[in-house]
Amino acid sequence: MSESNGRRSRQNNDKRSNKTKTKAKKKNKILFFLQISFLLIIVIGFVGAGVTVGLVKAALKDVKPVDPSKIPMMLDENSVIFDSSGNLLEKIQSTGLRTVVKYEDIDEDLKNAFRATEDRTFFEHQGFNYRRLAGAMIEGLKNQRMPKGTSTITQQLARNIYLAEIKSEKSITRKIKEAYYAVQIERALKKEQIFEAYLNTIYLGSGAKGVQAAAQTYFSKDAKDLDLIESALIAGITQSPTRHSPFVTKNKVNVSDDDYILDDSDELYTIVFNEDSLDRFGDVLYFMRINDFITEAEYEEAKNVDLKTKLKPGKLKNTDISSFFTDLVKNEVIEALMAEFPDEITTREQAQNMLYTQGLQIYSTLDLGIQTKLENIYANNGNFPKITSKKDKAGNILKPVKKSGRIVRYTLVLYKQENLISKDSHLIIPKDQFKYSDNGDLILLKNNRLTFSKTKDGVLVRVKDSYKVNDKNELFSYKGGSVRIPPQYKFLDKGNNLIVSSEFLQSTPDFFTKDSNGNLLISKDNYSISSKGTIQPQSSAVIVDYRTGELKALIGGRNIKGQKQFNRAINPRQPGSSIKPLAIYAPALDNGWTAASIIDDVPHYDGKGNRWPKNWYRDGFWGLMTIRKALQWSSNVPPVILSERIGVSTSVDYLKKMGITTVVESGSRTDMNSSAMALGGMTNGISPLELTAAYGSLANKGVHIKPYSFTKVTDKNGTIILENKPLKNYVVSPQVAFLMTDIMRSGVEEQGVGTKARVKNMSVAGKTGTTSDKIDAWFVGYTPYYATGVWIGNDLQTALPDGSKLSAILWSKIMTEVHKDLPDKEFEKPEGIVRVAIDTKSGKLPTELSQQAGTVRSEYFIEGTQPKERDDVHVEAVICEESGKLATEYCPDTSIGKRIMVKRPVPYNPEEHDGIVPTDFKDELPTEYCDIHTSNFIENNVPLDDLPIGTMVLPNGTKVLPDGSKILIDGTIIYPDGTIKHPSDNSNSEEGTNLQEPDTVDSNESNDNNGYDW
Ligand SMILES: [Zn+2]
Repeated sequence: MSESNGRRSRQNNDKRSNKTKTKAKKKNKILFFLQISFLLIIVIGFVGAGVTVGLVKAALKDVKPVDPSKIPMMLDENSVIFDSSGNLLEKIQSTGLRTVVKYEDIDEDLKNAFRATEDRTFFEHQGFNYRRLAGAMIEGLKNQRMPKGTSTITQQLARNIYLAEIKSEKSITRKIKEAYYAVQIERALKKEQIFEAYLNTIYLGSGAKGVQAAAQTYFSKDAKDLDLIESALIAGITQSPTRHSPFVTKNKVNVSDDDYILDDSDELYTIVFNEDSLDRFGDVLYFMRINDFITEAEYEEAKNVDLKTKLKPGKLKNTDISSFFTDLVKNEVIEALMAEFPDEITTREQAQNMLYTQGLQIYSTLDLGIQTKLENIYANNGNFPKITSKKDKAGNILKPVKKSGRIVRYTLVLYKQENLISKDSHLIIPKDQFKYSDNGDLILLKNNRLTFSKTKDGVLVRVKDSYKVNDKNELFSYKGGSVRIPPQYKFLDKGNNLIVSSEFLQSTPDFFTKDSNGNLLISKDNYSISSKGTIQPQSSAVIVDYRTGELKALIGGRNIKGQKQFNRAINPRQPGSSIKPLAIYAPALDNGWTAASIIDDVPHYDGKGNRWPKNWYRDGFWGLMTIRKALQWSSNVPPVILSERIGVSTSVDYLKKMGITTVVESGSRTDMNSSAMALGGMTNGISPLELTAAYGSLANKGVHIKPYSFTKVTDKNGTIILENKPLKNYVVSPQVAFLMTDIMRSGVEEQGVGTKARVKNMSVAGKTGTTSDKIDAWFVGYTPYYATGVWIGNDLQTALPDGSKLSAILWSKIMTEVHKDLPDKEFEKPEGIVRVAIDTKSGKLPTELSQQAGTVRSEYFIEGTQPKERDDVHVEAVICEESGKLATEYCPDTSIGKRIMVKRPVPYNPEEHDGIVPTDFKDELPTEYCDIHTSNFIENNVPLDDLPIGTMVLPNGTKVLPDGSKILIDGTIIYPDGTIKHPSDNSNSEEGTNLQEPDTVDSNESNDNNGYDW
C-alpha cells in the first residue's frame, strides 16, 4: 500500500469514528439521565419523583457538548498579555513559566496526598461516587446551598475545565452537570490522564495554578522534587486556596511582630507565614496515614516538622521589560472584570483567580518598541543625577525643617547604614540613647534610631531607614523593618519612650547585648532591614497616545526588578509649576483672557498681608508681561493673580475635566487655594499618569481621553468579554487648546524655562515643574505624536541637586529616541485663529513707539478676541538724563532728551513695597520733575566729565558717586565707610571711587523661595 493511500484510509477512519462518537454522546446523555434520575428517586424518596426527574432534565437541558479527549492539550491555560502589535508580553502567573508536568514525573507522595485528601477511591470509581453525590443532593435540597467536599477528582476537573464560568449557578443543577461531565471525562480519558490534568489545572493559591507552579511558588523547586511534607502542604491548599495558602502577602504597615516573615524584599509588601495552613496540613497527613500511604513513623515525624522553615518563596521572574506596565494591565483587567460581571465576580480574589487560570487573552496598548527604548534609558544610571543631600558629621542625611519659609533646623532622614549596623550585623543603640529603670526595665529613648508607634496590637518598634553608597557613588535607600520584641514585654511611658520589661531581658539574655563601649546591640535575628536597596533619586515616566488614550509605555521606578513594585507613575506627587497650564492658563484663555493679556509682575500679598509668592528669578519681579511670557518663564505672581480672578473652584472644575482625581476639596487641608491651584502645592499631588493625560487633552484639541492599558480581553475561545472604549471628555475648544499648545511650544522652542526639553527636528510643547526645595522635578509635554510626563524625585522627599532641568533633559532624551524615525509635523492650527502683531507691554496693537521700544511680536488670537486699541503704555517724554526725571526749564540742553517710557495702567509705588522695584521700572514714566537743575544750580555747576556714569549732583553741589562716596564742593571725599580724605592728602583719588562688583547673591538664599519655583 502506498503512503498516500494509507493517509486517506486513516482520514476515512477518523470521519467514521467522529460520527460514531456523536451518536455515542447522545446515547450517553440519555443513559446518564436515566441512571441519575433513578438513583435520585431511590435515595430521595420523600421528594416527588416528578420533581426529581424535572430537576435532572433541567440541569442537562443546556449542557454543551464537550470533547474531553482534548483536555490534555488544554492544560496550558495561562492568561496572556500581548502588546499593541500582538507580541507576547507575559504569560500571567506569579512565578516562573509554568510547564505542564507529566503524570510519571509527579512525585508519589504528592499523588498520594491528593488521593488521600480529595478522592480515596479515585482509581475505582466511574467519575462520581453515587453515595456521595446523593448525600450531597439531600444536603443541597435541605439547605439550598452548595455542599462541600463531595466532589471526586474527576468532578473537580470537570468543574475547572467546563464549569468555571457558572460558579453562581444553583448548586444542585451544577452538581448534576458536574457529574455528567465527569462521566464524559472518565469515558474519554485514562485515570492517569485525568489525574495529570487535575494536578495541572487546580488552583493552589498565591496565583499558582497547577502543582508545578505551586511547587515553584512555595518551595522554589519542581513538583517532581517535592518531599512528603511539601506534598502534604500543597494538597492541603486545595480545599480553600485563600485560607490554606501557606503565604499571606501583607502590606508592610500591617505586618506585626507576631508575623513570621518569609520574604521582605519587596518595597511595599511582605510575605508572611499563614498559621491557618497548619490545620489542614495536619488533616492531609492524617488521611495519608489512615489510607496507609505513609507509615506510623513517617506520620509522627512529619507532624512535628516546623513548616515555616520548609517554605522558600519562589524567585520573582525577570523579563526584558519591567513589570510596571503588565502589573497595571492586570489590575485594570481585574477591576474591569468586577465591574462588568458584578453578579458572577463578587470579590477581587475571584477576579484574580479568573485572570490566573482562565486562559484570558489580554490585548494591551503597550508599544514594546517604545517601552524598550524607555527601559534602556532608565537602565543607564548616567541619565540620572547623583544625590547631593546635606549630611551631618557622621554622614547621615539631613532634611531642612522650615518655619514660614526659613530653615529653622535639620532633621535626620536617612542613617548611613554603617552607623546603624555593626560589621557583624548587630543593630547598634548608642549608650546615650537608652537607660535602665530602678526595677531593671530597659528604657529606649525616643527620637533616635528606632521609632515607636501605637497600633491596635500594641507598640510597633521599627528601625529607621538607612542608606549605602556603592563604588559608583550611587545611593541606595533601605527601608527599616521591625524589632521583634514580643508584644507583652513592651510599652510606652508617658514621654513616649519604649519600656522593655526586665522579665524579657532576663528570659532572653541574648536579645540585647553590649559592645566594649557600652553600646546596646540587637542581634540580626531580632530586627529586620529590607535586604534590597532602592536607588535614589527615583523617577517615573508615562507615554500616552493622546488621540486614542492608549498608554504606550510606562515605567514606575528605576533599577527595580520584580512584580508588584511600588509604581511611581500612578502615585501622586506635588506637581509644582506643571499645574499652571492646566489649572490657570487654559481656564483663563477659555474665559476671555488672551495670550496677550497683560499682568503686572510686582510684589503681591497673601490674605495675611505677607509678600507672596516669590518668583524663581533673582531679579525679583519683571513688571508688565503677557500671559505668554508669564508661562514661558514660569513666573509665579501672574498665575496667582489669575487664580484670584478666575476663582479656585474654576481651576478645580477644569482639572476634573482633564481627568485629575486627586484634588482635595474638603477636610482640614484642601487644595481650594491659590497655592495649590496656581503653584502646585497640593495636598496629595497628581500622578504622572493623570498629569500626562491631562496635558494630552490640550494636545488632543481640547478633548480628554482617560488613558487605558488594554483594548480588549477575550476568553480562551476567543470570545470578547471586555472591551475598552475611549472615555472622552470635552475640556476646552480646539482654539483654546491650540493657543495653549503654541504658548508652551514657545517656552521650549523659543525661550523660557523649557528649552532643555527640545527635540531635534520635532515640534515640542510642554512645561516644567519644580516643587519647593527641589523635592520634585517634572517635565510634562507633547509632540504631534505623543504626550509624555517625566518625574524625578527622592522617595524620602529630600532635595535634588537641581530642579526641573533634570527632568527636561531626560524628557528630551526619551522623546529623541521615541521619535527617531518619525517625520516632524507642526501642531495643527484649527480654524478661527488669527495672527496679529501686538505690543507686549500693553497687549494692544503696536504704535511707532512700540516699534522703537522693540516690544512687538506676532501673536495668535481666537478670531474676534484680537485687540482693537493701540498701545497706550509706551509714551514719549522729555527727560533730564542726569536726574532721570521730567526735565524743567533749568535743565541744560545737553542733559535733556526725548525717551520712550512706560506708563503703567495701574501706577506702582515702590515705597509701598519696601522699595522693591520690578525690572521694567527703570523705564517707568517719572512723576517728579528734575531736582538737580534748580534755580540755584548755575552757581554750583561742576563738570562731571571725569566721574563715573551714574554720578548724581545734589543741589548744594555735592556729587554722589554710584558706590555711595560723596565729593563735596571743596574737593573733600567722604567714603561709604565714613573715612574722609581732604584735598590736601596727595593720594590716588581713583582708589576711593572704585566701583565694586555687586555682591554675588548667595545661592542658598536664592533657592529659598518660600514656594514653588519653575
Ligand atoms: Zn535736570
